[in-house]
Amino acid sequence: MSDASSSADLLCTLHRLHRQINDIKGQLQRGPRQQKAGEAAVVACEQALSDAKETLKQARLASDEKQLQLKTREQRVADTQSKLNTASSNREYDALKEQIAADQQANEVLSDEIFESLEQLDELEAAVDKRAKELAQRQEDQTALLEQIATRQAVLTPDLERVQAELKETETAMPPEMKQEYDRIIAARGEDGLAPVDGESCGGCYQTLSPQVMNELYLNNYMVCSACGAWLYLPEERRIQK
Ligand SMILES: [Zn+2]
Repeated sequence: MSDASSSADLLCTLHRLHRQINDIKGQLQRGPRQQKAGEAAVVACEQALSDAKETLKQARLASDEKQLQLKTREQRVADTQSKLNTASSNREYDALKEQIAADQQANEVLSDEIFESLEQLDELEAAVDKRAKELAQRQEDQTALLEQIATRQAVLTPDLERVQAELKETETAMPPEMKQEYDRIIAARGEDGLAPVDGESCGGCYQTLSPQVMNELYLNNYMVCSACGAWLYLPEERRIQK
């Protein structure tokens, strides 16, 4: 193999290492994002539970209020009934009877409302239970997620260090004039600064490469894509062995 063909090897290796590093970094960055999303979900569940509790509290107050109102009215009916015996006229007697009838009717309506409110309280209590369970589940999920993230980081961090060390070693092996150009391209473009030839196109931007450029590449000459500026290399299976 000539030096030129080994530089295609070198570019191919460098490109692979850059992609690996970016992939591992991407996986590492997913952890904090997942953690944040999980925390937001826990907060949302806490809020839903607190809202459900507040709704229940208000409904209980309203129901208690109605029951108190009913007791007061029942007492009034009893008081009015006791006044019947001491009524001084038929007219007063009739008026008292009418008042009793009106209060009793109002009390029936109120009793129905209290019955409904008690049913509603059961539903609201069930809703609070449901929200509490949802919150507990979310908290459990979050704990499991944090463990999972920690486990993943424990694997990925040494992986990243290993690939970064390999990259450094490979870069050190580059001829100086190549290294200078490489540093400039990588600083500007990162892993996209390197692109394999894909068919007759640049594997980075899919611009069709001219036959002349293809010939230069087959001759293992240094070529840059005129469209995206990536440093082109022929993948191993496309190289002409000398
Ligand atoms: Zn290109």
